[in-house]
Amino acid sequence: MTRDVTTYRLAVLGAGVMGVGISVLALGRGVPVVLVDVDPERLDQARGRVEQELRLAQLMGARAEDAPVGELVTTGSLADVAGADAVIEAVTEDAALKVKALTEVSAVVPRGTLLVTNTSSIPVDETALQVPRPEDLVGVHFMNPSYLIPTVEVVRGSRTGDAAVASVRELLAVLDRKGVFVGDGPGFVTSRVLHRMINDAVRIVEEGRASAEDVDTLMQDCLGHRTGPLRTADLIGLDNLADSLRVLYERTGDEGCRPCDLLLRKVRDGHHGRKSGRGFYTYTGVHV
Ligand code: NAD
Repeated sequence: MTRDVTTYRLAVLGAGVMGVGISVLALGRGVPVVLVDVDPERLDQARGRVEQELRLAQLMGARAEDAPVGELVTTGSLADVAGADAVIEAVTEDAALKVKALTEVSAVVPRGTLLVTNTSSIPVDETALQVPRPEDLVGVHFMNPSYLIPTVEVVRGSRTGDAAVASVRELLAVLDRKGVFVGDGPGFVTSRVLHRMINDAVRIVEEGRASAEDVDTLMQDCLGHRTGPLRTADLIGLDNLADSLRVLYERTGDEGCRPCDLLLRKVRDGHHGRKSGRGFYTYTGVHV
């Protein structure tokens, strides 16, 4: 039997693209969320972004107009995650930062609390080696936007315990997501395939062989890609895409994963995609 979602307590670390999206998913299902960030500016913006995206979720048919919304607490204090049934880390794609955040969380929540890493590319076993409670750690790669894409990639590490797997199944039921369990490794399945492909698409633009619009049109109209690789890059965030590619390149040696110069230039110039208003395209307001 599925648990009463209003009694579930979720904590999310990182109020960036994913932390906000995962919070919107949970809140939109009536689940209370504690959203933590170390950056006061991100925290200030988080509530407004959550409200905008809740409206968007409704417009896109992902939640009913009269569905109850969970209570949101935004905070800079990790102590506020005490009492959570599950903690999802959605902090910057940096292995050391994730280990630090998960280690600090372990000092606040009791042993047996589900710890989820939403990394795009860092192997779960690599993180598990450096955190105090590897048995509680599971990889759940929520897609972007989390409230519109009903399937997630789930990664059980070699040290993940059975209790954590049972807890992750409960979390997915509460959030109404379908989990596909895959083997551990850099980029799992989706980032291993998608990020490399996007990097190639950026290279084609860099070489002047086609514009971003033309690459996307061909990939959409001829190959059935939903949005095109460069619009997808802007949605992901070019800074996060470059970080994830770096993780992949460093762990696989695959030259195709070395972030290409045009991508790095855009990141350096602050053109991070939708979140900064400009990437391969220009944006105003919230779009999906
Ligand atoms: P982002 O840069 O938009 O946000 C990251 C946030 O983490 C920032 O607000 C930052 O201040 C915060 N942060 C850093 N250290 C923290 C800490 N110790 N505690 C609390 N907050 C902290 O990044 P994002 O795109 O939301 O990505 C987050 C994670 O999700 C990454 O691991 C990324 O690879 C993964 N992911 C991203 C996507 C995507 O499409 N962007 C999709 C799936 C998974």
